[in-house]
Amino acid sequence: MNDQILLTPGPLTTRIETRQAMLRDWGSRDPAFIALTAELRARLLAVAQGGPTHACVPLQGSGTFVVEAAVATLVRPGDKLLVLANGAYGERIAAIARRMGRPVEALRWPENRPVEARRVAEALRADPGLTHVALVHCETTTGLLNPLAEVAEAVAGAGRHLLLDAMSSFGAIGIDLRSVPVTAVMASSNKCLEGVPGIGFALVEQAALARCAGVSPSVSLDLHDQWRGFEKDGQWRFTPPVQVAAALAEALRRLEAEGGPPARLARYAENCRTLLSGMRRLGFEPYLEEAWQAPIIVTFRMPDRRPPLRFASFYDALAARGFLIYPGKLTQAETFRIGCIGALDRHDFDRLLVAVAEAARAA
Ligand SMILES: *Cc1c(COP(=O)(O)O)cnc(C)c1O
Repeated sequence: MNDQILLTPGPLTTRIETRQAMLRDWGSRDPAFIALTAELRARLLAVAQGGPTHACVPLQGSGTFVVEAAVATLVRPGDKLLVLANGAYGERIAAIARRMGRPVEALRWPENRPVEARRVAEALRADPGLTHVALVHCETTTGLLNPLAEVAEAVAGAGRHLLLDAMSSFGAIGIDLRSVPVTAVMASSNKCLEGVPGIGFALVEQAALARCAGVSPSVSLDLHDQWRGFEKDGQWRFTPPVQVAAALAEALRRLEAEGGPPARLARYAENCRTLLSGMRRLGFEPYLEEAWQAPIIVTFRMPDRRPPLRFASFYDALAARGFLIYPGKLTQAETFRIGCIGALDRHDFDRLLVAVAEAARAA
């Protein structure tokens, strides 16, 4: 039934148990679903050790919905957001803030270079009007890992708030909210948590969230009101994706059984090493320097050969062999991407490499 392997940054390959958890119908106001929601919120907080300080606010929709809700709820019209951008997801946060009419500035780096905490500290010193900083943890555009701890220290040291898009890192790359100061972490059900798509969530500092009543210009994208709803009666304000929630709760139990984020990261790192060494043997070079590469998704350059390898025919040849890859998202170089995440292990990547060798010959 599910023979295609998704080597994508989400939706991705999930476990059969996670998909089976969706077979039941739930009443959204029934005590059983209220208990499931409470379990979900507690487990998501525990992944980042946010229990004492933060609140988990799940939101219907994809990851972008929760990023938009976090900007809408936490950045007031008189505030000013500094977006740290080295890829498309950073640019998207800036676009969200602009569309919402929030004052926003972007500090940019090339797509193959990490954000530098030193430049962030300088920018915050130079402009006392900046109140919030937005960082993308793993820039899925390339697969680059930005230095969260250093940036968080620079932002907190300057007395500003950090909003972290941890969409493609949460659940694998550890975020410890006890020691790393972050006002809000945003992520979604369908990346390293290995759930199905349909839920975004934010872990928000309770003290900051409590001050944000009436700030969001949107009714549905209001994390403060969504939080108050959960605190009042344990229920979602509007129709929840009940099956997606059940699948995510099951996926979180599986994450715990696997050994939590450190064990998941170790599996992804092994997938990534297998992929990188195998692809190099086949003549495919990664776009990023190894030092910046997160074991989440790898960008490869199209090989320089005659006749040139075209993405569309390479994709089709791989898909015919049961593997779905991802197009590149870079402006300057012709690339494609292969995800290391999902319910996959090294053996799946060994099989992928056989298929890549065949597909490159056939395409
Ligand atoms: C996936 C992703 C998002 C959200 O994308 P959606 O398509 O809305 O789920 C945001 N930021 C990053 C870094 C991502 O990888």
